[in-house]
Amino acid sequence: MSQTQLNVVGGELVGALEGATREVRNPASDELIALVPEGSVADVERAVSAAAAAAASWRDSTPGERAGVLLALADLLDEHGEELARLESANVGKPISLAREENPISADNLRFFAAAARNLEGRAAGEYVSGYTSMVRREPIGVVGQIAPWNYPLQMAVWKLGPALAAGNTVVLKPSELTPLSLLRFVTLATERELLPPGVLNVITGDGEHVGAGLVAHPEVRMVSITGDVSTGKLVAKSAADTLKRVHLELGGKAPMVVFDDADLEAVVRGIRLGGYLNSGQDCTACSRVLVSERVHDRLLEVLEPAIRSLQVADPAQGDSVEMGPVVSGEQRERVHGFIDRAVAGGAQVLFSGSAPQGAGAFVAPTVIGGVTQESEIVQREVFGPVVTVQRFADDAQAIAWANGVDYGLAASVWTRDVARAMDAARVLQFGTVWINDHLPFMSEMPHGGFKQSGYGKDMSIYSVQEYTEIKHVMISHA
Ligand code: NAD
Repeated sequence: MSQTQLNVVGGELVGALEGATREVRNPASDELIALVPEGSVADVERAVSAAAAAAASWRDSTPGERAGVLLALADLLDEHGEELARLESANVGKPISLAREENPISADNLRFFAAAARNLEGRAAGEYVSGYTSMVRREPIGVVGQIAPWNYPLQMAVWKLGPALAAGNTVVLKPSELTPLSLLRFVTLATERELLPPGVLNVITGDGEHVGAGLVAHPEVRMVSITGDVSTGKLVAKSAADTLKRVHLELGGKAPMVVFDDADLEAVVRGIRLGGYLNSGQDCTACSRVLVSERVHDRLLEVLEPAIRSLQVADPAQGDSVEMGPVVSGEQRERVHGFIDRAVAGGAQVLFSGSAPQGAGAFVAPTVIGGVTQESEIVQREVFGPVVTVQRFADDAQAIAWANGVDYGLAASVWTRDVARAMDAARVLQFGTVWINDHLPFMSEMPHGGFKQSGYGKDMSIYSVQEYTEIKHVMISHA
């Protein structure tokens, strides 16, 4: 089954200006599933012009009107949830059960942003100088460029477009060139139903080098938000400096799971099985580093081994029982295998691994690696695949030092029955999210974002809407 999808620019469904297309493949089978426009800098120019033309009227819409649009998008997502889940499962290679779970969460995100549009707060207006009244206005920034990754294509796009539109900005959004299908279908449906004024939300496809970089460099784009690799975030921040646009960076992670000696090990194993291998480990908050007290290390591995071996790894097309599919591409599979091979060559051991189908699909077996040092590449760099390392610590201080001892700072978890120990750890861990006795859950109301090289700026929550606003001081003379 192969289909052709189009971009959405200025309320129209369009191909790339130069007519080029890109093949999109299913990573479980390498089957061609769609052709999409392959844009160039000319497509960026056209989309930014459309967004700029729509900016004043969208800025002047009421929060209630913007909320109405976001609520209609949420209803559309609910209505087409099954179709979008199937598309995303085929494009990303994720289990259909996971793709089905994501869409109601994304619809909830949109409903949260609809409510947030009507609830922005500020200081009281007042007379701070005699004879004058001052007030603060929270205004949209203007045209926002947004760049999404391939792991949760529709959900990451919703995390971006939701707060940007709620705050009154117009958007040009570029999905990953590997996984554009679910977002393109969603905005196509929204366009056919005329849910958005033309030009308010434009989606263009293409690679990072031309279309992504073109958006970042464009002088009329006043803010750029990207979710992606740390190295990409650094390129974006450097390029954005030329036009001093605002930058919002949601980058990679290397989340530690700190398991103290009084932890509930059955719960820890459930946490690793889900948090380390969900979406084939291609999750920026995946618990890729298990740090476990030497007192319970051996017992944990005993319980973990059958749990990992029992993961059902297969082509998601085989049905609802599949728990893990392939990684996103053959290139990513080679990258992940490269990390494992170099770790083993450097003295680490594969403690155990699950199964993976052979053949054309980009499968990697779920793998647990031990015997690693804190300085080793597999501990220090994001693998973005179904690979978890296990390190054995002697005391709490060493656990925290190792947990913090990476460049990343997106998320961490702490496992203990002792409230004081948990709260001490939560205070000193340098991560944007710290879970206690769980790993992965998130919700619309709470912020998600990194410390250190995991980036800056928050997704979700009222804080993300604030990121997409400018503060203006208006001062009125009474004379
Ligand atoms: P990536 O950095 O390769 O690509 C991300 C996006 O950036 C793509 O759309 C790509 O086309 C674009 N891009 C690439 N080069 C560019 C450039 N020079 N200028 C502008 N745009 C450019 O990342 P990926 O492989 O698609 O996604 C995986 C990464 O995303 C992982 O590091 C993961 O941790 C991270 N991620 C972070 C979060 C978070 O919330 N912090 C969430 C999901 C994924």
